[in-house]
Amino acid sequence: MSAEKTASGLTALSNFIGGEFLPARNGRTFEKCSPATGEPALSIPDSDAADIELAVAGARAAFPSWSSLSVSQRAEWLFKLSRAIRDRLEGLAFAETVDNGKPISVSRTVDIPRSAQNFEFFAEAITQFASESHHAEPGVVNYTLRQPLGVVGCISPWNLPLYLLSWKIAPALAAGNTVVAKPSEVTPLTAHHLARICAEIGFPKGVLNIVHGRGTTAGAALCTHPGVKAVSFTGSTRTGGEIAQVCASQFKKVSLEMGGKNPTIVFSDCDLERTVAEVLRASFSNQGQICLCGSRILVQRKIYDRFRDALAAGVRALHPGNPLDESTKQGALVSREHFEKVLGAIEQAKILGGKVLAGGRPAQLPGALAGGFFVEPTLIEGLPPECATNQEEIFGPVATLIPFDTEDEALEIANGVRYGLAASVWTTNLSTAHRMAARLEAGIVWINCWMLRDLRTPFGGWKESGVGREGGLEALRFFTEPKNVCIQFSTVPGA
Ligand code: NAD
Repeated sequence: MSAEKTASGLTALSNFIGGEFLPARNGRTFEKCSPATGEPALSIPDSDAADIELAVAGARAAFPSWSSLSVSQRAEWLFKLSRAIRDRLEGLAFAETVDNGKPISVSRTVDIPRSAQNFEFFAEAITQFASESHHAEPGVVNYTLRQPLGVVGCISPWNLPLYLLSWKIAPALAAGNTVVAKPSEVTPLTAHHLARICAEIGFPKGVLNIVHGRGTTAGAALCTHPGVKAVSFTGSTRTGGEIAQVCASQFKKVSLEMGGKNPTIVFSDCDLERTVAEVLRASFSNQGQICLCGSRILVQRKIYDRFRDALAAGVRALHPGNPLDESTKQGALVSREHFEKVLGAIEQAKILGGKVLAGGRPAQLPGALAGGFFVEPTLIEGLPPECATNQEEIFGPVATLIPFDTEDEALEIANGVRYGLAASVWTTNLSTAHRMAARLEAGIVWINCWMLRDLRTPFGGWKESGVGREGGLEALRFFTEPKNVCIQFSTVPGA
């Protein structure tokens, strides 16, 4: 997948507005580094309100024709996008890995296939999206129209760049809206490639607009623009709070998918060997940079020592490597800023009295990777549930172990954070599993599994992890406005 180069050899991105590739109107750009080398890699348009204005105008102009296409015509466009993504899987996977630092095997088998699947899924879903009809008394029928909102804003984070961007764009477009998307400035490369794909396949101009730039300028301008009818956001709880305030003042619809501090709850009757392997995956996949990763591992005291020793051995065996190597399981953290934040959190855990059982330091890789943002997967024990390490999201390869005795104690610890995104429970007792599922404060509870996703299910968080739900019909409901139509007709023939 090619892109323009700057004079200094950086890959130059541009905005995609009304079907045209444009620089920021102010002419400014900023650079970002490759996570694996620490060297500058991309030049990104430093867009602001002027570019958002242009993109919203483009999206508005495209709305009447896009929203009046038949459902099957819109679905066909989404299928085309999906096929084009699958046809370019290798190039997109390479771009995602270079931009984000994640292992190429993950980009190839998770990020890019799932991005294609998002478009396919919502292409199919919109053809099955039915509205309600209510019949209360003779001669009266109510039905509900679910109409597209108009121009909507989609703002996405850096951890699953194309995967989460397409998870928003696909339902928005399927429902008949036109979109202005603001991908993360930390990982904008595959969004740029998506724009190129749109141009290549002749996707209708102005239907999908992509504006690059920082959150505080381009992102904020997108949220405040009065022509944007709804904002779908995934990112940190802090940013979500800011967006919620801005949108509330304009009575705008918002969907907020935010941070987490997810508990992994291991009961003594679990299948120990399998649980250790799965908990390792749940804690450290994508370098722990998945909002659903379990970062607090609660283990019933009866098996605590055995479980801890087995898990620590597994963590010590995970070595960060070149993200482009096929065999690498742990890549680089996404940016220098995040790398420093994660290392700072590890230092804080040590100061608080945590005992580092594995990792705990930056990982030093040879040659060109010496300046990369690699951190050894880290496992810590000995910290109380209420300390900062166990309360605040680290969003990196860092997990803590916390012992518990009873089910009630596990629940108190699990629910004792401001977040409520996901939880996993590991037990062979069916009753324990059901009781825990009912009492955990989380948007998703996995029992004896993790990250098993059915795209039809409602996805989102409780408490400070989320407002609203994505996934399946929930997303299509968010991106449409219901209108009740009430009809009275005569029940007397010939009247
Ligand atoms: P972030 O909040 O810093 O940024 C997310 C996006 O918001 C970026 O595109 C950014 O440019 C934009 N943004 C920043 N400030 C803005 C503002 N004032 N107005 C409008 N847009 C603004 O988050 P991040 O660091 O990119 O992502 C990591 C966070 O995302 C973690 O907290 C993680 O848990 C969360 N996350 C949640 C989910 C979920 O489904 N709940 C999924 C993935 C990531």
